[in-house]
Amino acid sequence: MQENRPSRPENKETPPKRRMGSKKVAPTTEIVTDEAEAEIIQADIAAEELSPVPASEQTPMPTSSEKTSSKQNGHGLRASLAVVSGRTAGALSRRLHLGGGTSIAGVVAQRLYPDIVEHLSTQLQQGSILVTGTNGKTTTSGFIAAILSDAGLRVWRNREGSNLMRGIAGALVIRTQPNGRLRRSGQAVSIFEVDEAVMPQAVRTIPTRIAVFTNLFRDQLDRYGEVDSVLKRWEQTIKALSPETILVLNADDPTVAALGTQFTGRVVYFGIEDSELDLANQEETGERHQVVDSHICPRCGGEYTYTLRFYSHIGHYHCPQCGMGRPQVDIRATKVENESFDRQRIHVETSTQAGEITVPLPGIYNVYNALAAIATAQALEVNWEPTISGIEQFKPAFGRGERVQIAGRTARMLLAKNPTGFNEVLRTLQTNSNKSHVLFVLNDNIADGKDISWIWDIDFEQALEGFATLTVAGTRARDLALRLKYAGVDVHTLVVAPSTPLRAEKREERTQASARRRSRQRNNSSNHLELTEEELPPVEHETTGAIPQVIPPRAAGKTYGIAQALDRAIERTPEGETLFIVPTYTGLLEIHRELERRGLTPHYWEETGP
Ligand SMILES: [Zn+2]
Repeated sequence: MQENRPSRPENKETPPKRRMGSKKVAPTTEIVTDEAEAEIIQADIAAEELSPVPASEQTPMPTSSEKTSSKQNGHGLRASLAVVSGRTAGALSRRLHLGGGTSIAGVVAQRLYPDIVEHLSTQLQQGSILVTGTNGKTTTSGFIAAILSDAGLRVWRNREGSNLMRGIAGALVIRTQPNGRLRRSGQAVSIFEVDEAVMPQAVRTIPTRIAVFTNLFRDQLDRYGEVDSVLKRWEQTIKALSPETILVLNADDPTVAALGTQFTGRVVYFGIEDSELDLANQEETGERHQVVDSHICPRCGGEYTYTLRFYSHIGHYHCPQCGMGRPQVDIRATKVENESFDRQRIHVETSTQAGEITVPLPGIYNVYNALAAIATAQALEVNWEPTISGIEQFKPAFGRGERVQIAGRTARMLLAKNPTGFNEVLRTLQTNSNKSHVLFVLNDNIADGKDISWIWDIDFEQALEGFATLTVAGTRARDLALRLKYAGVDVHTLVVAPSTPLRAEKREERTQASARRRSRQRNNSSNHLELTEEELPPVEHETTGAIPQVIPPRAAGKTYGIAQALDRAIERTPEGETLFIVPTYTGLLEIHRELERRGLTPHYWEETGP
C-alpha cells in the first residue's frame, strides 16, 4: 500500500455474524448469479458509454482545505472521482476493444484513490471471502459462489485472472454508484480470488470474514522464486488477520495446515480420509506424481513421513522428530469414487452432517476444491441442502473441464499451469476408459512464467499408453515436443504447431510458396491463387533444433498458430469422440478467443490476464 495514506474510513465494524441460508436473513427470493450480475453491470456500462458523466456532474478533486475541513466528505469525493474515472476508463477500453476493462477500471481508480479497495470493501455488509493457493482458486471460488447463490444470497466475485489488488479494485468499482457507495447498499457476499503473493495486502485492506487456503505447490519459478517466499507471505497474512476471521485450511497439505497453528482465531480444516486413494494402492506407481514441493516440518526441520499420500505432498503426514502432523479435520471425504470420467461421488462428513455428494468434475484436486467450499459453507452456517445442490449443479469455469462442441467432436479444456496441476490432469486422463486425443498448448508469456523448465517435472513417461493422438501448440511447442520425445513419444506421431515458424523455416516456406505460385501461373491455372492445404505436402512432425537429426529434410506446409493447431487436433480426433485441450494460462485465453471467434462459446470472458 501507499505510505502516507489518509486515515481509514470510520465504518470499520466487523461484518455482522448471521446464519446464512435461513429464511430470516435471506428474505430475497431473487437469486442473482454472477453472470446475471455481470449482465447488469454490462448494461450499466453500456448506458454509461451512451451518456458519459457530464462535466457539471463530475466530482472535482478535493483541495487540501476541503480535506482538512471534512475528512469523511473528502474520502467520499475522492472515492466518487475514482469510481467515475475508473468506470469511464473501463468503458472506453471496452469500446476500443482493448480488453481488460475491469482491470483498467481498477488501475485508474487506485491511481486516483489508493485506498479505494478499503473504502469500498468496508461497505460490504456481509464481509468478504478470500480464496488463495497455488491451484484451485477459481474452482473453489466457483463452488462457494454456487452454494451461496443456492442459499439465496447475492454473490459478487472478481473475474479469474484479476486476482491482484487492481483486479479486486475493478470488481468493486464496477459495482459502485457514481456517489462512491456500493450498489445495493453492499448487500452481497463477495468472494475474491487472491494471488498468493498479494494475500498479506489483501487481508490488511479488505475486512475478511473467511480466508481459504487451498494448497501450496511450486508454481512458475521465475514468478515467486520459491515456495518458501509464498509461505513467508502467508505467515504475514496470518499475523495480519483479525481474530474474528475464520481460516479454512487444507489439512492434507502440511504447509497450509501449519498456518493454523499460528492463528488464534477459529480454524476449519478439510481433508480426505479414504485410504483407497493412497498412491501405493494405485495401479501405476513408480516415478509418477513424485513432484514433492514441501515435505519439511516447519517446527523442527525434520522430514515428514506419510502414512497416506494422495498426490505430490498431499496426504496424511507426521514429523517423526517432533510429532507435528496432520490436524484433526472438521470436513472430511471418507469415500471418493469415480462415477464416470468427469463425475465423482464423495461421502462427506462434518460434525453435524453426513451425506453423499456428486462432484461434477474429474480429479482428486477437484474433490479438495469441493471440500474447501463445503468447509467455507459450514463456517458460514449455510444449510446442508444448498451446500449439496451448489456443488452438484456447479458449472465449471472455462478451462476447468468445460465442454464445447466442435465439428461433431467434444472439446474439453483442462488448464494445467504447473507440474502438479499437469500431472493431475494426466492422471485424470488415465481414468478415461479410451485412449485420449490431446492438444497441449505451452506458452511462456509472463502470466505463464517465462521459465518452462518445469515441463521436465511432468510425468509424461507414465502417461504415454493413454494417448491416442498428440498435438502440441504454443510459443514453446518445440520444447514440449522435445520433452515428449525424451518421454518416449514417437515424434512421427506428433503434430507440432508452434506459434510462429523458426526464421529458417519461414525463408524456406516463402521460397517454396513463390515457386509454386510461379509454376501455377505458368500452367495458367490462376483461378485458384491461394495455396490450399491439399497443395502442401502433409507434415506430421517437426521438433526443436536441439535434436536436428529428427527434423525432416524438406518440411513444408507446417501447422502454425492456435487456429491451425485446433483444426489439426480436431481433424485427428474421430467424430463423436473427445479432444482434451490442456493449455497453460495464456494458452487457455488463446483457445478461448479462437472458440469465441468461431462462435462456439459465450462471450463472458472479461479479463485478459492477471
Ligand atoms: Zn517436526
